[in-house]
Formats: sequence, C-alpha cells, structure tokens
Amino acid sequence: TKDARNKTKTFHWMQDRPHSTYLTVLAAGPYHVIEDSLGDLPINYWVYPQDAENAKFSFSKTPEIIAFFNHEFEYEYPWDKYDQVTIPGIGGGAECTSATLLGQGVIHDEKADKDFPSKKLIAHEAAHQWWGDLVTLRDWGHTWINESFGTYCEHLYVKHSLGADEGAVDLLHKKDAYLREAHNRYMRPIVFHRWDKPQQNFDSHTYPKGAVIINMMRWILGDKPFRKTISHFLHKHSYSSADTHDFVIAVKEMTGRNLEWFFEQWFFGPGHPVFDVSYHWDD
Ligand SMILES: [Zn+2]
Repeated sequence: TKDARNKTKTFHWMQDRPHSTYLTVLAAGPYHVIEDSLGDLPINYWVYPQDAENAKFSFSKTPEIIAFFNHEFEYEYPWDKYDQVTIPGIGGGAECTSATLLGQGVIHDEKADKDFPSKKLIAHEAAHQWWGDLVTLRDWGHTWINESFGTYCEHLYVKHSLGADEGAVDLLHKKDAYLREAHNRYMRPIVFHRWDKPQQNFDSHTYPKGAVIINMMRWILGDKPFRKTISHFLHKHSYSSADTHDFVIAVKEMTGRNLEWFFEQWFFGPGHPVFDVSYHWDD
C-alpha cells in the first residue's frame, strides 16, 4: 500500500510454509521487474534498469528449468513464486526461499553467453528451491545435501539441454576440479564436522566431488530407482531438515538396497581410488 502523505510504500509477504531462517532475504534497489511465468507460477526477474534488455535473454530458460526439475524430482515446485534478484558485488548466487539472489555478472548479452552461459548458475540456484529450501541440511556437516545436489542438478540440466556428450564433459570438469583440490590442498570426507567456520565445507569436495558421487550412486541404483529415491526423500522430509543417514534410509525404503557401504566409502571416508597402471606388449 502507498501512503502519499507520509511518502511511504508498504509491502506485505506471507511465507506460510516452514523454512529455515537463514533462507530469508530482503532486497531493496531501483529494480526493473521482468515478468515471466510457468503455468500459474509467477517467475520474476528483478534487475537494474541498464540490465533489462540482456536480462530477458539471460533468464529466459528459467521456466524451462523449473519445468525440467518438476519432472526430474517428481515434486512440483514447492513455493508460491520464483524470483531472481540481481545485486552488485557478489559472484554466484544465494538460494533464499522463492527469491534467489544472483550476482549481476549472471547477465550477459547473447554473444558473451556462448563463453559464459548463465543457465548453469540459474539451474543450480533453482534446484536449491528443493535441495536446501524445501529440505534443508540438518547441520553444516551435511552441506552436500544442499550443494552436491545443487551441482548435480546443474549437470542434469546441462545434459538435458545440450546432450550426453556435453553432459559427460561437464562431469569430467567436475571430477578434475575435485582432483585439483585433493592433489594441491587437502582431502577430507564429504560429510565433515571438523570445521571452524561452515564456509570451509563449501569447497570442491562438497560441490563437484559430491555431484560426481551422486552421479555414481545413480549408476549403481539405476535411473528409475534413483529418481524414485530422491522424490521419496523430498516428500518425506519436505519443509524440514534432514541429514546423510536420512538419505541412506530413503534409499533402503525405496529400493530395498542397503548402500551403507557406499556412503561409508564415499561420504564418510576421504579420498578416491588411486591405481598403479602399467602395460606391456610383445611383438
Ligand atoms: Zn549452491
């Protein structure tokens, strides 16, 4: 409502479904709003006026991405609207509930988008509306539930939109990013509670390694059982928090398979297999 005499504007927003407090955001600025939608779901892009033209292009895949995840997770987008709000001074994004903050750098013109595609980040942050916001990690030791899934879902969209070869290259880059960190800095278990600050868990173990491990789990379980499992996990823990053990239980409930050995190796243990390979031949 507008109050002309006091020169004030009052906005009301009701968040009537439970979510974690760290996912609340308030953004104020001279925003230009681009309105989009997916069926009844309002999808808005809040950008600075000078970005308006390029933003239409950069954000144009958002409805398609949400529709893809609705199908992939077998769980309809859980909130009343989806906003993407750009702000200066940050890189990447932050997945506040129904209102993702994105660094202004996500907006490119069509030419630059070939080298710096926006849709990976847009897909990653959109996936958090389920993985992080609908179901939230119970504590920062289980950051993979938010970030490995966010990174894995960005991979799913790359594969869906660009094909299997691009998908495979994307996975290879993710694996290499983890190996760089493992070789040059440190190795730790993905589920890890010995941090001074939670940000320490936001590294190449949680993001790319976790994503590649989730992909391997999908290969072990098979496509259909894997998708049934993630849908079950999202439904069972919707609007609440969960940890790694809850995920292991969800796998058991949906597939009848006990993957504790897999989680012991890949989530609770550090490192990766190292092979000594030699070869010989005779003429
Ligand atoms: Zn993320």
